[in-house]
Order: sequence, then structure tokens, then C-alpha cells
Amino acid sequence: MDGKIVITCACTGAETTKAQNPALPVTVEEVVSAAVEAREAGAAILHLHVRNDDGSPTASPERFREVIEAVRRKTDIIIEITTGGAVGDTAEERLRPVVLLEPEMASLDCGTVNFGDEYIVNDLPTMRAFAREFKARKVRATLECFDLGHVYASHILVKEGLIEAPYHYGLVLNVPAALPWSVANLEAMCQALPAGADYTVMGIGRASLPSQYAAIARGGFIRVGFEDNVFYSKGVLAASNAQLVERAARLAHEASLKPATPDEVRKHLKLRS
Ligand code: ZN
Repeated sequence: MDGKIVITCACTGAETTKAQNPALPVTVEEVVSAAVEAREAGAAILHLHVRNDDGSPTASPERFREVIEAVRRKTDIIIEITTGGAVGDTAEERLRPVVLLEPEMASLDCGTVNFGDEYIVNDLPTMRAFAREFKARKVRATLECFDLGHVYASHILVKEGLIEAPYHYGLVLNVPAALPWSVANLEAMCQALPAGADYTVMGIGRASLPSQYAAIARGGFIRVGFEDNVFYSKGVLAASNAQLVERAARLAHEASLKPATPDEVRKHLKLRS
């Protein structure tokens, strides 16, 4: 990826609401538009959660299928579906869309994590079960780590042969009641990665912008989008996901980096074709 940087757009998430930002894409049409615009602005990967018609989060494979097919018709962006789901989903519910739909990529949470007053449980047997299904279906995992211990937990999956190279991590910083954002915390996670691993830095809320600078400085990849942060700057709501992607691409350009295209990422991460 010499001279290139990979930008992921996490356009919707499970917990963000239209009350927080009215431009949040929720319906199938809104998500398709967000995906097309994000791709045009420089995103190569769409990190996807889906919602019911009333805006509540769902892990329904039917809704995932509907959104994925609609996005596919309009853009070549890589679709990475969540298996983190929403607070309260069972592991089975979270995994079902991967089993039925076999996306190119999906997130795989590498440990239990607080989400403010809530929590999402990912014990090692659950992680193994997920990794086994990913491997059987050649779905590339984004190994999401919300804590330094999660990075070490991922090594167990690697050692057991359940996760194979090329490795792609999502290093998530600043989830409330989880690991706070700091360059030192990011560095500690990076130092613990397997040799040669790629990683996307995911800074939540006000950590989003410094995380982008850190990713550029350290050779990581960028994630932006309303799942992580609904603001453009302090007190100013982002107009769209694309506006956030545009800025990420602009920062990258200033550092002489070009946003990688979906096909370049497919090749680099050896995605199933
Ligand atoms: Zn997500």
C-alpha cells in the first residue's frame, strides 16, 4: 500500500440516532446514497449496520441482504458488515448475517467491552466460533480491539490457525468506559499487533480527528463516519458522512497519500473474489 491509505466509512452504526444528527442514513435508500457519496469522496470500505424502518438496530439477515444488494447495484465499495451488532444482541444473532450472506469483510470483536453503562460480551469461545465461520467462508476479519488485552486475545486465534494473514485490525479508542484515546494507548496497541498487520484507527467522538492524524503519521488506515462521530468540529454537526470522508482524504493528500480504491484493497487484503 505504498503511498496509499485505506479509508473506511462507518455510516450508520447501531446506537447513533437521527436526534443526534438528522443526516444519519437509516433507510435502504439513505444508506445507498451515503455509500455512493462516501466512495466518491475516497472511502474504499463501507462498515455496515442496518436498521428497522423505525430506526432501531437489527441484525436481520433479510435487511442486511436488502441493503447489500442495493449498495452493490450502485457502487463497487467493499462492504464490511458488523458482527458487533447492537447492545443486547445474542452472539448467534450477530453471526447469522455472515453465515447466510458471506460478505467480503466483517468485523470480529476481540473481547468483552463496556459501552458506557452497557456492555457487549465476547468471550474466547464466542470469538473462536466467529473466527471459524469467517474462515470457512473466506470472510476477511477486521479484528476489532477496544483494549490492549483484546489485541493479545487475537493472538490466540492466530496461533490456533483460526485467523490467517493478511491481518487487518480495527483499533477502537475512546468508547465510553473503555480505553481512552491517547497516542500512547494507540502506540501500545500497535506494538502488540502481529508482525505485518494492517490496522484502521477508530477514534470515537472527539478522538476521531486526532485518530486520523495518528493513522496518517503511523502508517495506519482511517475510519470516519456517523457511527463514531456525528460532528465535523466542536459543536458543528457534520452535514453528511461524505463530508467526513472528504476531510480524511484531504488530510491524506496533504501527507502525500492517496485513498486506496476498493479493488486495490481487495488485492492487498486478499479478499475473496
Ligand atoms: Zn460498527
